[in-house]
Amino acid sequence: MDNPLKPYVKKRDLKKTPEPLGVVKKRAHDLLEFVIQKHRASRLHYDFHLECDGVLLSWAVPKGPSTNPREKRLAVMVEDHPFDYRCFEGIIPAGQYGAGTVIVWDKGTYYPIDYESIDDCENPGQTNLADAQRIVRDGIRKGKLSFVLKGKKLQGEWTLVRLKNNPKQWLLVKHDDKYADEVDLTRLDKSVLSRKTLEQLM
Ligand code: MN
Repeated sequence: MDNPLKPYVKKRDLKKTPEPLGVVKKRAHDLLEFVIQKHRASRLHYDFHLECDGVLLSWAVPKGPSTNPREKRLAVMVEDHPFDYRCFEGIIPAGQYGAGTVIVWDKGTYYPIDYESIDDCENPGQTNLADAQRIVRDGIRKGKLSFVLKGKKLQGEWTLVRLKNNPKQWLLVKHDDKYADEVDLTRLDKSVLSRKTLEQLM
């Protein structure tokens, strides 16, 4: 199989950026992970990553996630990132791809929800890993993926849905569950790893 990280490696000079090498990870844990980075590049955005098959599926979300179900946030699909990217924060040097500062804004575990088979699944969180990753791949192919996030900032059910007119453009939407809230969570601006803000890292 083609290395899914080829586009990642191609965009970067890995001798000049502190970002992780383009290595597909062999899994050594039971739960799928997600991470959201806050990235001040030429424009501020949030990078939303879902682990699947040893890499991170990745979207750039210009406004960041909203816990308000009525605020659908544009999420532009970008190249797969290495699994090790989930711990990356630091400074990408000037002149390099994505030059700017990165903090890990949120991180935790997630599991996909397959609404078509949810009736015969008593506890969707207990789906085995192979099934969970298959559901994620199917969702990506079909253009609609629902999942539960268990992070430090983000919780509950969410959906990523692809727009019809542009295959790279998706919307990230919060479901109306007990974690839905009109408060803007992006005001929480510290890293969940270093507790630093972007400005403190710069
Ligand atoms: Mn980015």
